[in-house]
Amino acid sequence: MENNHVTVLEIDLNAIDYNLNYFKSKIKNSTKILAVVKAFGYGSNPVEIAKHIESKVHYFAVAYLDEGIALRKAGIKLPILVLHPLKLNFEKIIKYNLEPNIYSLDLLQSFIEISKNLNLKNYPIHIKFNTGLNRLGFSKSDISKISTIVNKQDAIEIISMFSHIAASEDLEERAFTLQQIDTFKMLSKALITNLKSTPFKHMLNTSGIINYANEAQFDMVRLGIGLYGFGNDKQITTTLKNVLTLKSVISQIHTINKGESVGYNRAYTATTKIQTATIPIGHADGISRQLGNGVGYVYINNQKASIVGNVCMDMIMVNVTGINCCEGDEVLIYKNKEHIEDLSNRLNTIPYELITAISQRIRRVLKEC
Ligand SMILES: *Cc1c(COP(=O)(O)O)cnc(C)c1O
Repeated sequence: MENNHVTVLEIDLNAIDYNLNYFKSKIKNSTKILAVVKAFGYGSNPVEIAKHIESKVHYFAVAYLDEGIALRKAGIKLPILVLHPLKLNFEKIIKYNLEPNIYSLDLLQSFIEISKNLNLKNYPIHIKFNTGLNRLGFSKSDISKISTIVNKQDAIEIISMFSHIAASEDLEERAFTLQQIDTFKMLSKALITNLKSTPFKHMLNTSGIINYANEAQFDMVRLGIGLYGFGNDKQITTTLKNVLTLKSVISQIHTINKGESVGYNRAYTATTKIQTATIPIGHADGISRQLGNGVGYVYINNQKASIVGNVCMDMIMVNVTGINCCEGDEVLIYKNKEHIEDLSNRLNTIPYELITAISQRIRRVLKEC
């Protein structure tokens, strides 16, 4: 499909390298890195990012099957962990040489069944423990059953054991997190004791690397948002390099006289003469409607222009009164990570939501110098 949209998401691959190296500097040389490229690489371009860093990391992770297939079809050879494999996709997971997160006895049994039928030997799977997030994972009462089931066959092999921290960015939850880490150590030890193989272990996400590298580094870390420039902390985010810039151009400029309204439902009425610029990006592109009516703003010629009235599906209007600009001028919808953080705060959400919401209608362009 041809995409000539003037609205583009620019992705800086050198900044990705910088951020990767930053997190490498926080861990031991021997610790492996899994790069998380789920949800279209946090809204960026999973294939290009994976190709760019394939030689610099040890593993990739995606959430769902199709995301893993896209990487394989692009020629990615590194192991790929599928964090949320669905039972109905198991055969395809194997066909594309993807490695499932197995989080229940039911999944374990059916994955073994399928692997046996395909005459597989030692197919790698990853066992996930629930240590307090209460999302996916085995609990303590499952441990002895896992080893009993696994030791009876050789179609699959547990290659790693992992868990996920609920509040790694929140130091007020430190006591809870340390307890999660202890639980993980206890569960993984209990499983290993009864296994023939010795799976490796991993627990930390981006904020985990920042806050718990001493306590829970284990054999690998799972780096997601940090790669894309966000540290879940103002200071860390400042230290990282900016990866994502969302750009567009002014389609049209209007003069709005006192008493005239702008946009749907006439949400804005001018109390004095203003100028607006119409920009080709809307809520269908991931610009939350909550950013309307002055909550959100863009940058035009280095000045802030706030959104006037409601966000439309395909467009926004912004106030450019007093800003020297013309039709065709560049607009920075998301200038940088700091801008995205500020908009996230205004929306009472987190940068993860804003960047993964950038729709696939927006063209992705790579920046590499
Ligand atoms: C998404 C995800 C990560 C990455 O988290 P970040 O906070 O983006 O670093 C790591 N592990 C699991 C299980 C995840 O689902």
